Amino acid sequence: MRLLFICLIGMSSALAEDIRKLTILHSNDLHARITPDTNHRGGFAYLATLVRKERASCNHCLYLNAGDLVQGTPVSTIFRGEPVYKIGNLLKFDASTIGNHEFDYGWRQTQKFLRMAKYPVVSGNIVDQNGKLLAKKPYVIKKVNGLRVAIIGSVMSDLEAFLKPKDLGPWHSTSSLDMAAKYAQELRDKVDVVIILGHIKQNEGSAIIRQVPQVNVVVEGHVHTGRKELEVVDGRVAVGCAGYGVDLCRLDLEVDKSTKKLVSWKWIKLAVDANTIAAAPDVEKLVSKWEKRVSVKVDRVIGEAKRDFEKRDLVPMIEKATLDEMHADFTLMNAGGVRDRLVKGQILERAIWNIIPFDNVMMTATLKGFEIPDSIRKGKTIELNKEYLLALSDFLATNPVSLEQLGLKAVKFRETDVLFRDMFIQWVKNKKVLE
Ligand SMILES: [Zn+2]
Repeated sequence: MRLLFICLIGMSSALAEDIRKLTILHSNDLHARITPDTNHRGGFAYLATLVRKERASCNHCLYLNAGDLVQGTPVSTIFRGEPVYKIGNLLKFDASTIGNHEFDYGWRQTQKFLRMAKYPVVSGNIVDQNGKLLAKKPYVIKKVNGLRVAIIGSVMSDLEAFLKPKDLGPWHSTSSLDMAAKYAQELRDKVDVVIILGHIKQNEGSAIIRQVPQVNVVVEGHVHTGRKELEVVDGRVAVGCAGYGVDLCRLDLEVDKSTKKLVSWKWIKLAVDANTIAAAPDVEKLVSKWEKRVSVKVDRVIGEAKRDFEKRDLVPMIEKATLDEMHADFTLMNAGGVRDRLVKGQILERAIWNIIPFDNVMMTATLKGFEIPDSIRKGKTIELNKEYLLALSDFLATNPVSLEQLGLKAVKFRETDVLFRDMFIQWVKNKKVLE
């Protein structure tokens, strides 16, 4: 009798285990790639079809987007990101967060995006000097399959390194790790699952799952290659999908509601392939409406590429263009400023917009030879007392972090009225053929 009683107790504690499924669909860094790329990957209408298909067979799914919805194609540059937010609404994210490029059209436009989004945009570490949050809320709590799921938004701790000060205005970011720890502790008793939805660096995502035991999942954006494999630390996981919507990622979880821990995880990448997926008609309609308006401005032939040029080939080419067009002696292109490759064949102006989507303007400074740091000189011979002209985009010439890194903090730059992208377009037009 006593034995039976013990057995029953054992069974009842086994029954107290309450395992529930939770699936997280996620994307990040869609970067205004509203149409498929040259490999027929991505495109909002195709992504929408895939998301809807996944959702149709799933009553325990959340779809999260980890920032940088805008910036990357002419539809975003010309209309300051707004069509992308309009089309993005049709993707029906359950939650999204703010990426660094959401500030590219100035912080007032970021606020406009927050008003345009028909889904919660959460962000817990973008604040002004009084600590007031830019986003309406740092987190949102969703009910899924009987689970209470907290989604806390985050941006990288060094947001200012990625922006021109005038675009960031009164805002700055605080530590992504401290913020995650603060809200995760606060929420742990109220919810079953804590997710950080971060537009953050991978080392920040890793630090959060290593150091904040109350966080179950980190869903990252920012690194466009995403993660190869999910990272697991003590039953806590970090994932990040590829950028530009070439994949939709899916994280299948089983959660023990009684211990609030993950008991299983499986992470897969689903290709957004326009060859095999049909376009969602409602999304396609809006995409083509905007693309028509863009096409008349940018689908003009300006030259010919004799071969494919990868991003790393374009960096020295753009530097050459800058020296030629600005009649400068020195320049520097930041690799992160080159946003696309150039494919062999006729060059449309659109291709240059994809390579340099930013509305950066050129700035110049006159320096004596001895004032030119090695970072700029790059082995060229100089005369110490001769004057040289340095030309940089205003991104490099006004960003305190890059000025410090380049050793140019003391240099006075002059503004010009030359748009960086227009300068490169003009150079390609003059060249006609790129070999
Ligand atoms: Zn990005």
